[in-house]
Amino acid sequence: MPMNFYVMTLFPDMINSCMNESIIGRAVEKGILSINAVNIRDFTLDKHRKVDDYPYGGGAGMLMAADPVVRTWEHIVEEVNKGNDKDSQKKPKTIYLTPWGRKFDQNAAKELAKEEDLIFICGHYEGIDERALEIIQPDFYTIGDYVLTGGELPAMVMMDTVSRLVPGVLNNVDSAVYESFNDNLLEHPQYTRPEEYRGLKVPEVLLSGHHANVEKWKKEKSVERTRKYRPDLLK
Ligand code: SAM
Repeated sequence: MPMNFYVMTLFPDMINSCMNESIIGRAVEKGILSINAVNIRDFTLDKHRKVDDYPYGGGAGMLMAADPVVRTWEHIVEEVNKGNDKDSQKKPKTIYLTPWGRKFDQNAAKELAKEEDLIFICGHYEGIDERALEIIQPDFYTIGDYVLTGGELPAMVMMDTVSRLVPGVLNNVDSAVYESFNDNLLEHPQYTRPEEYRGLKVPEVLLSGHHANVEKWKKEKSVERTRKYRPDLLK
């Protein structure tokens, strides 16, 4: 079953130009993922295709109006349910990217990777009219405590992270299992050829072929690195 991402945005080219490369691009080609950038401006009803307006009560900047956002979302929900009869209509999980949302992390990515369809709403300017959020009732996510110009980059960060956990996206299943944040540990140091580079040698144990010792070394180095850089994870 492919995983379908829908990105509601005023800048679909941002999504299309970044999400068709490398591992994600190959997964899209293979049909394991689909990434659909949907232009909110296409769902305006006025002839100027206006998507923003001044906030009531004053304040800096413009706000995205509720109607185009709600219409875009309803269109996507309809698309997702195409072919389903009335009793089996789905409400796909919808995420509004916002600085005040739940902090996105690897555990959240694992939860989201279980979904079949995910809709991302990218805000711009000063955000979105609250009524759109009341109607849609999305989950709220942030990628960190800082303010970006729009939700497109956070949506791409989340899609990239979730995609790696979708079966078939990575060639090697172990890649997603043995890496940072699994078991609350950071990944151990890694080396590839040559055995010596500018006087720096690959640790002997990794060349030994002794599987148990290699695993023990990796675990020790993971703990060491976590203690140094992210001691909070060890708690
Ligand atoms: N006025 C808003 C506030 O103070 O919370 C910030 C609006 S921001 C300039 C425009 C849009 O960028 C937001 O609606 C949101 O979609 C997105 N955005 C900005 N920073 C973000 C972050 N750290 N995580 C997720 N989305 C973010």
